[in-house]
Amino acid sequence: MGAHPQRTCLGCRSTLQKDELIRYTVSPQGDVLADYRQKLPGRGAYTCIDPNCLADAVKRGQFERAFRGRCRRPEFDVLRSSLLSQFAGRTLNLLGMARKAGQIVSGSNQVLVALNRAGELTVILLARDISAGVAEKVETKAAHRQVFCRRIAEKSILGQSVGREERSVIGLRPGPLADALKKEIIRYEEFAGEH
Ligand SMILES: [Zn+2]
Repeated sequence: MGAHPQRTCLGCRSTLQKDELIRYTVSPQGDVLADYRQKLPGRGAYTCIDPNCLADAVKRGQFERAFRGRCRRPEFDVLRSSLLSQFAGRTLNLLGMARKAGQIVSGSNQVLVALNRAGELTVILLARDISAGVAEKVETKAAHRQVFCRRIAEKSILGQSVGREERSVIGLRPGPLADALKKEIIRYEEFAGEH
């Protein structure tokens, strides 16, 4: 205990460590806020990082109960979009950290060269506005190497996160930052799906 405080999911009632859950707080106006980084002040309530648990908690009025009537019933879609942008923000943060740690390969040519060697890259990020030809080349090679490859943001946003003007393709070398970034993308996809 102490270092690993446990909390219960409002949806499925599982008890997990705080950092394996999403935290929610209530604004002074009575709106439930998703506090993914667990930094907002005040009383917190929790769900698993699972859209089904969030949907159940909303449907069954668990937020009103947890916050003792000090909040309105939240809308699932509002909390979901807030979480999606928090997952995306965290992904770009991690990308910036990976750059500072010298863990990225930037640019389509460099990434294609790195893909010639097995195990050199573990994640590849493509801009959504990448040219179709380049995307196909990188995606085909990434699939062949079984490297996790996703289109995540515009060129300008990808560029910004690594201190450049525009980037269409960024590869990450294996390590904890790449693992954490991959986890955020998977969370995003789980919440973005239909439920
Ligand atoms: Zn749950």
